[in-house]
Amino acid sequence: MAEIERHSFDVLVVGAGGAGLRAAIAAHDAGAKVGIVCKSLLGKAHTVMAEGGIAAAMANVWKEDNWKVHFRDTMRGGKMLNHWRMAQLHAQEAPDRVRELEEWGALFDRTPDGLISQRDFGGHRYARLAHVGDRTGLELIRTLQQRAVALGIEVFMECTVTRLFKDGGRIAGAFGYWRESGRFVAFEAPSVVLATGGIGKSYKVTSNSWEYTGDGHALALEAGASLVNMEFVQFHPTGMVWPPSVKGILVTESVRGDGGVLRNSEGRRFMFDYIPEFFKAETADSEEEADRWYEDKTNNRRPPELLPRDEVARAINAEVKAGRGSPHGGVFLDIASRRTPEYIRRRLPSMYHQFKELADVDITAEPMEVGPTCHYVMGGVAVDPDTGESAVPGLYAAGEVAGGMHGANRLGGNSLSDLLVFGRRTGLNAAYAAARLKRRPEIGDDDVRAASEHALAPFGIEGGENPYAVQHDLQEVMHNLVGIIRTADEMEQALTDLAALRERITRLSVEGHRQYNPGWHLALDLHNMLRVSECIAKAALERTESRGGHTRDDYPATDDSWGKVNLHCRLDGDGVAIAREPLPQMPDDLRELFN
Ligand code: FAD
Repeated sequence: MAEIERHSFDVLVVGAGGAGLRAAIAAHDAGAKVGIVCKSLLGKAHTVMAEGGIAAAMANVWKEDNWKVHFRDTMRGGKMLNHWRMAQLHAQEAPDRVRELEEWGALFDRTPDGLISQRDFGGHRYARLAHVGDRTGLELIRTLQQRAVALGIEVFMECTVTRLFKDGGRIAGAFGYWRESGRFVAFEAPSVVLATGGIGKSYKVTSNSWEYTGDGHALALEAGASLVNMEFVQFHPTGMVWPPSVKGILVTESVRGDGGVLRNSEGRRFMFDYIPEFFKAETADSEEEADRWYEDKTNNRRPPELLPRDEVARAINAEVKAGRGSPHGGVFLDIASRRTPEYIRRRLPSMYHQFKELADVDITAEPMEVGPTCHYVMGGVAVDPDTGESAVPGLYAAGEVAGGMHGANRLGGNSLSDLLVFGRRTGLNAAYAAARLKRRPEIGDDDVRAASEHALAPFGIEGGENPYAVQHDLQEVMHNLVGIIRTADEMEQALTDLAALRERITRLSVEGHRQYNPGWHLALDLHNMLRVSECIAKAALERTESRGGHTRDDYPATDDSWGKVNLHCRLDGDGVAIAREPLPQMPDDLRELFN
C-alpha cells in the first residue's frame, strides 16, 4: 500500500459550520491540539445560508422573556419529544453565546436603545431572534472563522472524511480524501467531533446544499452509535417553487415574522382554517387581531402564519392538494401589499435580491409563490446532553448531525443557538477526555488499507451503475414515498425500493481519474445518503401516529402512548434495527412549566 499522509490531533473536528467552528475554538481553549476537516472551502458551510437569526431569550425587546419561556416554547414546538436536558441547557446558555459572538466582533442589528435587536419567528412566544438583516449565518460564520484562524487552528479544506477508525471500543481517528487530488489522508485523534450538518440531499426538493449527504449520521451509525428521532424531517413551509432550477431554495420565515401573509388562489388567508387545538389559546382567530399583533403584542394573539413550521407546511400542502394552489404548485406569500418597499428592502435584502435575480419577481410589488421544501433533520446521533459524547467512547456530535435537542420539530432560530451552545460544550468535553487518556488509541494498518480499498472500489467496476442515476432514483423514492405526508403502503414500497438501491450501489462505477472527480465523490456519498434514508423510512413506518415533522395519512392523530418513547436506529449486520426507548424523565420543577 502506498504511503498515506498522516496527521495527529487531540481533537479532530469534522465539519466547519457553526457547530464545528465553535467546538474547535472551545477545544483549543481547553488546551487541545485541534484540527478541522471540511468537505467544502472554509466559510462555505451550510451555516452561512442561515437567514433569520439566532434564538436566545435575551429580553432585549420583551423584558418578560427568559430561559424558562424559551425552554417551554422549544419543548412544545418539539411536541415534547425533545431531550429535556438539552432543551434546558440550550435555553439557559444561548444568551451568553450570542453576547460572546458580539464580543468576538459580530455586528448585530440594534434596537432603538442600542441593544441587540430580536425578531419574531414561528413558535417563539416573544421576539427572540438576534439577527443581522437576513444574513445572520454569514455574520456568525465570519466571526467564528476569523477567531479559529487567528487562534492558529489547522484547517483541512476540501477534504472529505469517509471512515472512522477505532482501537478496541474507542475512537482512534478518521480517514478521508482530498477532493482536488483524490489522495488519501489519515487523522489520528482520540476525540472526534462530528459536525457534518444534515441530510437534505436525500430528497428531490430541498433548501440544502450539495454537502448535506448525511455523512456524519452514517459514520456514527457505522462506528456503533445510535441515531434518534430519524422519522422527524422538517419540511420548511416556504421554499421557492418557480422556476424549476431554483425549486426548494429557502424563503425565510422572517418574511412572515415581518408581516407577510399566506394566501391561496382565491385570495383567502387560509392559515385561519388550520389552527390546531394545541395552539388555539395563543393564536389570533381573526385577521383584525392578527394584524393588530404586529403593533401591540401584549393585547393580541399571534397570527396563524407564525405557527410552528410543521403546521404551516401541512396547511400549504392541503391547500395545493385541494386545487387552491398558485400557478406553479405553491401558494402566495404576500408582503408587498402589507409593507412599504423601503421596509422590505431594509429588512429582507437577501430575499429581495433572491427573487429579483432568480425568478424575476419584485417582492416589493408582487407576491411570491412558495411551497414546502425539505429543510432540516431533527434526527441525529444520540448524545449525552451535557458532554455531546455518543455511545462510542471518544465520538462526539454537535449541531444538525446530533439528535435529541429538537424532538419532533425544530423552531426557527433554534439551530444557530444549538450550534453555539452544544458546539462549545462538545469541544470542551472532547478536549478534556483526550487529556485524561493514559494511552492514545492507534490506527491499524489493516483498517487504513480497508478504508482505501472501499473508497477505490467504484474505479474497479466497468459498466456498472451510474452514481447520478442512482442518486436521482433515491431522491424520487424519498420525495414520493417518505415525504411530507406518509402512509404504511408507500413506506413499505420505499423500503423495497431502498433495498434495490442498496444492491445497485454495490455496482457503482466511475470513469476517469482520482483528480477532482465529482462522480466518484457522489459514489462515496451515496452510501451515506442511502443509510440515512433507510433509517428515516424504517422509523417513519414504525411510528404509527402523526406528530411534528412526521405526518401519517393512515394515523392522523397524535397518540399519547407514542409521546413516551423515542425511536433509536442502530446497525444490525448490514441492516438498520429500530428500538423503542423511554423518554428521559423531566424533573418536576420543569414539568410544572407546562401546567
Ligand atoms: P453546517 O453548517 O452545514 O456545516 C457542515 C460542515 O460539515 C461543512 O463544513 C461541511 O463541509 C462539513 N462536512 C460534511 N460532511 C463532511 C465529510 N464527510 N467530511 C468532511 N467535512 C464534512 N437555522 C437557524 O437557527 N436560523 C436561521 O435563520 C436558519 N436559516 C437557514 C436558512 C437556510 C437556507 C438553511 C438551509 C438553513 C437554515 N437554518 C437556520 C438551519 C441552520 O443553518 C443549520 O441547521 C445549521 O447551520 C447547521 O450547522 P452545522 O454546523 O451543524 O452544519
